Amino acid sequence: MDFLRPTTWEEALAAKAEQPEAVPIQGGTDVMVEINFDVRRPPALLDLNQVAELREWSLEDGTYRVGAGVPYVRIIEELGGPLPGLAQASRTVGSPQIRNRGSVGGNLGAASPAGDSHPPLLAADAVVEVESRARGVRMIPASGFYLGVKRSALQPDELIRAFHHKPATGPQYFSKVGTRNAMVIAVCSFAVALHPDERRVGTGIGSAAPTPRRAVEAEEFLRAELDWDAPLAPALLRRFAELCSQAASPIDDVRGTAGYRRHAIGVMARRTLTWAWNDYLGRRAA
Ligand SMILES: Cc1cc2nc3c(=O)[nH]c(=O)nc-3n(C[C@H](O)[C@H](O)[C@H](O)COP(=O)(O)OP(=O)(O)OC[C@H]3O[C@@H](n4cnc5c(N)ncnc54)[C@H](O)[C@@H]3O)c2cc1C
Repeated sequence: MDFLRPTTWEEALAAKAEQPEAVPIQGGTDVMVEINFDVRRPPALLDLNQVAELREWSLEDGTYRVGAGVPYVRIIEELGGPLPGLAQASRTVGSPQIRNRGSVGGNLGAASPAGDSHPPLLAADAVVEVESRARGVRMIPASGFYLGVKRSALQPDELIRAFHHKPATGPQYFSKVGTRNAMVIAVCSFAVALHPDERRVGTGIGSAAPTPRRAVEAEEFLRAELDWDAPLAPALLRRFAELCSQAASPIDDVRGTAGYRRHAIGVMARRTLTWAWNDYLGRRAA
């Protein structure tokens, strides 16, 4: 197996162009498990750890651009204020060791329906920046990035450079059901982001469909019915939960049944919206 070790982003893009079958490795918390268990044996590994640009983040024109290799622990510690939903999801990933190595770029690269970063990225309208030597940069909205089970819009000669995420303008929450509190892949998960400036609520469903996805009808329902100056009406909350549940298309597997997942999505939708709404009203009153 070849081991490619670029030290700049340009070298990394050149290596991927010349050897599209080379598998990128950042934290290695997915890739090394697959190699150790012989799930795949790629002809080459493309180690991105020497590419310093991937481990940087910046605030550009009011939007955070976060390098694909920034590990979860730094998202929690350095970006928890402006990106609270993603930071909350990051706190639930694996263990301290996994959060030190693992990255959102790797989560996007793996494109597992159960990846914890996906629901908050969807709810916050994040955009994924990918690049190839031949075609340059493509900006892919998170809602268009996930194409199937562990399949994304990334082309074989492309690498993920960063994700772009606006600072939160309202409360954001993430909730995850697992069989225990740590080191657990989500049975299902849900994220909500209030966008009071646009009078809009964003959602993200995890591990309850072939891909992470938004609950689009539920979002449209709130856009039409939500009174941004009043407490949440119980009937509205119930309908929102129902529509989120209906947006899921889960399967039965070792982690849970489809019926349980559908039910849990509704419960998490109701809870996260309630938490977010209470924060929102509390901040306005303060
Ligand atoms: C014990 C354990 C617990 C875990 N718990 C969780 C959990 O709770 N929640 C969760 O979501 N995940 C969990 N994971 C999975 C994993 O940690 C995450 O998916 C993590 O985000 C992967 O990041 P990484 O940097 O380690 O990726 P890597 O393993 O380096 O790469 C993952 C995939 O992304 C590709 N890739 C990496 N960087 C790029 C790039 N720049 N451009 C294109 N492709 C790229 C790789 O080729 C590979 O296909 C766990 C894993 C382990 C081993």
